[in-house]
Amino acid sequence: MPREKEADAAEARREEGMELALAEGRKALAEGEVPVGAVLMRGGEVLWADHNRREQTGDPTAHAEMLCLRRGTERLGGWRLGECTLYVTLEPCPMCAGALAMSRVGRCVWGAADPEKGCCGSVYDLPADPALGGGTRWSAGTRERECRELLQSFFRKRRTEKQEPDGRE
Ligand code: ZN
Repeated sequence: MPREKEADAAEARREEGMELALAEGRKALAEGEVPVGAVLMRGGEVLWADHNRREQTGDPTAHAEMLCLRRGTERLGGWRLGECTLYVTLEPCPMCAGALAMSRVGRCVWGAADPEKGCCGSVYDLPADPALGGGTRWSAGTRERECRELLQSFFRKRRTEKQEPDGRE
């Protein structure tokens, strides 16, 4: 396949994966969770799709990425995910970026950047750290606007709900 066509095909795959992750993120929003969705895929096969469930489970590790890693490895029967790609609407936090690297996920595709906690390029670049294996690649910005707007809609709603009568939070 010519290089340009190959790049187009890769971009189309990223868009498809992120569409599934966005659908999960919207479920999280409907459930009152911070809307982050993820999907773990091997080639064209969905191993697991999930969303942030921190509030409903009371589990601080119940981020979308962690749930995909847990259930995806159960399905595969092993923890090495070199052939897999994880799509997630928000740049992974330190815990998730660390877990992605430790499970040797081949690639992480994320949508919106997290300048405060993002650990795939923003604050740190954990997947690139040789201490964590260094084998996980990542790419940023797929469907960035939709991923960012999904999060913004949640925080806007929360701000409105939290507002005191004098208008201050
Ligand atoms: Zn996380």
